[in-house]
Amino acid sequence: MSVFVHLGFAPVIEVFDLNRKFDEDNSTCKINLGLGAYRTDDGKPWVLPVVREAEKRVVADENINHEYLPICGLHPFRQAAARLALGDNSPAISENRVLSIQCMGGTGTLRLAAEFLKQKLKFDTVYVSSLTWDNHVGIFQATGYSQIHEYSYWDPITKGLDFQGLTDDLKNATEKSVVIFHTCAHNTTANDPTEEQWKEIFRICKRKQLMPLMDCTYQGLVSGDVDTDAFPLRHLDSEGFEFLIAQSFSKNFGLYNERLGNLCLITKDRTVLDEVRSQFEFIIRKLWSNPCHHGARTVSTILNDPKLCTEWKEEVKVMADRIKSMRKLLYNKLIELNTPGSWDFISSQTGMFIFTGMTKPQVECLCTKYHIYLTKTGRINMCAVTSKNVDYIAKAIHDAVV
Ligand code: PMP
Repeated sequence: MSVFVHLGFAPVIEVFDLNRKFDEDNSTCKINLGLGAYRTDDGKPWVLPVVREAEKRVVADENINHEYLPICGLHPFRQAAARLALGDNSPAISENRVLSIQCMGGTGTLRLAAEFLKQKLKFDTVYVSSLTWDNHVGIFQATGYSQIHEYSYWDPITKGLDFQGLTDDLKNATEKSVVIFHTCAHNTTANDPTEEQWKEIFRICKRKQLMPLMDCTYQGLVSGDVDTDAFPLRHLDSEGFEFLIAQSFSKNFGLYNERLGNLCLITKDRTVLDEVRSQFEFIIRKLWSNPCHHGARTVSTILNDPKLCTEWKEEVKVMADRIKSMRKLLYNKLIELNTPGSWDFISSQTGMFIFTGMTKPQVECLCTKYHIYLTKTGRINMCAVTSKNVDYIAKAIHDAVV
């Protein structure tokens, strides 16, 4: 008998399970509102024109080969990634207090942060928002954290941020814990703190000596401006915090399958950086040893060329603007249909998603009756809404909630 026979199935990964069901569905009106990937108004994946241009340059460059990259990744990419997160006027960058490490997607970046904080600094407690991207919990569980707690975030009544609950929970948090924050475009609730609220949140973090781990997966996709969306990061930097940033380049460059991420560690004391880097190298050697090249070279080509960088920022804005216009359209359709309930949250929520707060039976109805696939929490990927399918989606939502 096989030694593997007792394994059974692992828990399903919801978004990928939805994709499978969607692919197997023969209906012509099927729509996938589950997976968080950008789509054009024709419902197609979008390779950013600036990415195409940069890739052409990379392929044409005969000086580029397939040798191993350094363990911490491609140097010009790492520098540009830190500048993108912290800005041109970053005190930490100008004082040489930033360690920047190329990683494997946002997921690998978070995993590396979790490993480092646990293995080298003996952190064992992490706080995640309630609700959050489920892999936050999964990654910290897999890394062996024994204390994984939630802090309040989502208020189901207002369909907004429970700021009072959030600050109360942080005030009661165990000192010297890791706290994961979504820099912008909170996944799943689509609600971000205001600038004033961020300042208050970080005041509490300082008092409680909490270690902010800033998940930065959607920079630019809220406001259309990468600097505006980076406010919490810039604020932490200006306040002299020690903190970490886990960047993903999957969404804002549309490079989902290149698995490109970057970890920034900001310290108060630049003299520790070489030692800290060597500790990271020690860990990475056992995780993936060296990172991939193509995505990093592509992004580096864009961010280090002023013309391409401007084009990229314009294309990020195209994505953000399309999402905003779909929000407006869906809202208007639901109002036209007199759909019961208040739908104002569609425009007040931010980023790629809306968090509808629909019940499980309502979500089930969308799926079985209308072939519209979304996560059972009722989260809708607004990027998959188009001017052609919005009527159908609005009518289906209307039917599901009446
Ligand atoms: N963090 C959050 C909040 C996310 O939504 C995602 C992607 N869904 C990630 C991290 C992981 O990004 P990547 O696909 O680059 O691993």
